[in-house]
Amino acid sequence: MSLKSRIEKIVGNKYVSDGAGERYIYSFDMTENPPQKPIMVVMPSNVEEIQSIIQLANETLTPIIPFVTGQSVGGLTIPQVDGAVIVDLKRMNKIIEVDEESMYMLIEPGVTFGHVKQYLETHHPSLRYTYPLAPPYTSVMANALLQGLCDLSTTHGSMSDFINGLEAVLPTGELVRVGSGIMGDGNWFGRYPLPDLVGLFSGWQGMTGIVTKISLKIWPKKKVMGHAALFTFGEQSTIDLLKSITKSGVVEDIDCMSLSLVKMLMGIPPLVKPFKGEPDYGTVIVLSANSQKELAEKYEQLSNNVHLSNETEPRNLLIDWKTISKLMGEQANEWIDFPSDAFKVLTEHDGLTWVGTYIHPKYWATALEGGRKIVEKYDFELMAFLKPMNMLHFAEFKFIIRFPKDVQTVERVRQCNEELLDFALSLKAIPYKTPVWSARKLKKLADPSFFELIKRIKKLLDPNNIMNPGRLDV
Ligand SMILES: Cc1cc2nc3c(=O)[nH]c(=O)nc-3n(C[C@H](O)[C@H](O)[C@H](O)COP(=O)(O)OP(=O)(O)OC[C@H]3O[C@@H](n4cnc5c(N)ncnc54)[C@H](O)[C@@H]3O)c2cc1C
Repeated sequence: MSLKSRIEKIVGNKYVSDGAGERYIYSFDMTENPPQKPIMVVMPSNVEEIQSIIQLANETLTPIIPFVTGQSVGGLTIPQVDGAVIVDLKRMNKIIEVDEESMYMLIEPGVTFGHVKQYLETHHPSLRYTYPLAPPYTSVMANALLQGLCDLSTTHGSMSDFINGLEAVLPTGELVRVGSGIMGDGNWFGRYPLPDLVGLFSGWQGMTGIVTKISLKIWPKKKVMGHAALFTFGEQSTIDLLKSITKSGVVEDIDCMSLSLVKMLMGIPPLVKPFKGEPDYGTVIVLSANSQKELAEKYEQLSNNVHLSNETEPRNLLIDWKTISKLMGEQANEWIDFPSDAFKVLTEHDGLTWVGTYIHPKYWATALEGGRKIVEKYDFELMAFLKPMNMLHFAEFKFIIRFPKDVQTVERVRQCNEELLDFALSLKAIPYKTPVWSARKLKKLADPSFFELIKRIKKLLDPNNIMNPGRLDV
């Protein structure tokens, strides 16, 4: 019996395809990473079907790639080998449980940010999750497993820090649980005190198993929110101010962007040259509180911080969001109500990429300055983005490039990204959502025992190397 017939027996023939259309659609993403067609796409609907698919893949040595929407902006679902089957998990889209007391939700892989927001607002209005500047139709679980960032990252860190535990099918077909959920459902409150085996699945890009359920922390929704825009000049002065604001502890979240990116979000054509004397960076600041009085106090502390900075940079300017909305109209509010339409400005062309890294605070200003020079050299739009994470422990730092996918531009993008990564690595930054070419460069510079260790763990869990093989250059 052919592989396709055997998979059809597991999921039904409606949910398997080896048609040219499907093979093409699943062969690429928005990035410059080279496409490669899978041989088939399968859409299971439950854990038992996933187990049967994995057992079959193990027996027939068929590479399989977990997939939800393919929007990682890292080429992470593009097959690295011939003969791969994509396992599309969209049909598994249940929010299984929301625990109001311990504040977590237990969800399946296909649950999206839009779905979670709507569900919590309808059924649990006192609680909230956290949202990235990503399309609302992308997977919440995949983003947590990929250690992404979101609109609570300045206070709470990467989304993998929100994982309480999970259930996964191993590459050999067994179903396992890690975290407090080992005591049964209704008990997914945390990862400790246990060996922290979430690390066997977080950051692995689907190489160690298919996660079928994940418990993620949700948070009390504060009664009032406030937003402000901060305009600043020069890299070092901007970073000094961002650090003092973050350290003060009054803000919930901070996104610092090149002014050209701010202008794009406002609908101003990107290649209009900077106006004389315009600021270099625009930062969106989020405040939250349980009363208007508390919010006003927090805003005052924030203003004081900016006033202090005016002693050395008199042009730094803080504007409250009401004023921004009066100036810019409704579109200003689209930025702050995540998940929003603001991401659309990034997807204007068919190509989108970035070199994203997590980086030590001592390098933030150097990173912004050096990266800007590289992007300008390659003549791309300047779209720097920096978010202080987990208070001041580190930042997410990236230069975003949106581009039309013609051959010359793709080559220019590749060269620019290589140079950006070499520069970031020279500052000891760690690339995130790492495409293979980027993992290869990291491997050359990192302590070799780390890559030896992950190779050994991969071999232990996946002896036949069937799960998303080739990723992380392992
Ligand atoms: C315009 C735009 C803006 C974005 N902004 C942000 C942002 O602000 N912050 C941010 O963090 N991200 C951002 N992203 C990235 C993106 O939203 C996330 O990476 C996304 O949520 C991952 O979901 P996905 O459905 O695309 O996963 P996929 O790309 O389908 O999968 C991602 C990876 O996870 C693996 N995987 C998927 N499901 C499973 C599973 N069940 N078990 C094991 N492995 C699995 C896959 O094999 C793959 O390696 C942005 C993307 C776009 C297009």
